[in-house]
Formats: sequence, structure tokens, C-alpha cells
Amino acid sequence: MALDAQGTKVTDRAGLNGQAPRCDHIDQLPTVEPGLPECKECLGLGRTWAQLLVCLTCGWVACSDDSRGGHSRAHYEETDHPVVATLASKSTWRWCYVHRRTV
Ligand SMILES: [Zn+2]
Ligand SMILES: [Zn+2]
Ligand SMILES: [Zn+2]
Repeated sequence: MALDAQGTKVTDRAGLNGQAPRCDHIDQLPTVEPGLPECKECLGLGRTWAQLLVCLTCGWVACSDDSRGGHSRAHYEETDHPVVATLASKSTWRWCYVHRRTV
């Protein structure tokens, strides 16, 4: 099975110039406890990752898009959980997969 990140959907990356719509996904997020700081998918495959992201809908931890696995995006595509954050607690960076931008 090919798990490399070629299948990433970048259909309309040219969209949304200027005023981007507000991301309403962040209003609906529950309070979640992040899981263990590891990508279980990568561990199962014996891979390493560049960075870990946590799903703010369910707390699932997976590797970022710039990791070989891209399992965080895979989690979004499976579950439609739209927003992830870095595991570093002092970082306020959050990414919405639906709006394709930081929120
Ligand atoms: Zn959004
Ligand atoms: Zn991974
Ligand atoms: Zn999730």
C-alpha cells in the first residue's frame, strides 16, 4: 500500500484572496486532552516524523504534513476533524484543514 503523501488534496489552492472567511470551526472545539506525544501510525511503520500535531476535536496526536507520513492530514480526511495544533503548549499556532490556513 502506498502511503506517501502524493494523494494530498490541493484542489483550489489559488482560492481565497484578500479577506478570508472567519473560521467557525474553532468555536465548536471541545476541551481535549492530547494523547501521548507520538504518532502511532509512524511507530507502527517504523518511521520518524518532523513534528507532531494534535487534533483539537478528539486529542488524536499524529505527524504533521511536512513529516513523511502526513498522518495528521490523514486523520482529518478520515474523521473530518478540522483543526489541529502543535503539541508545544506555548505555541498558539492552529491550522484548519477546511479553511487551509492558520486560525
Ligand atoms: Zn475552519
Ligand atoms: Zn505519522
Ligand atoms: Zn480528531
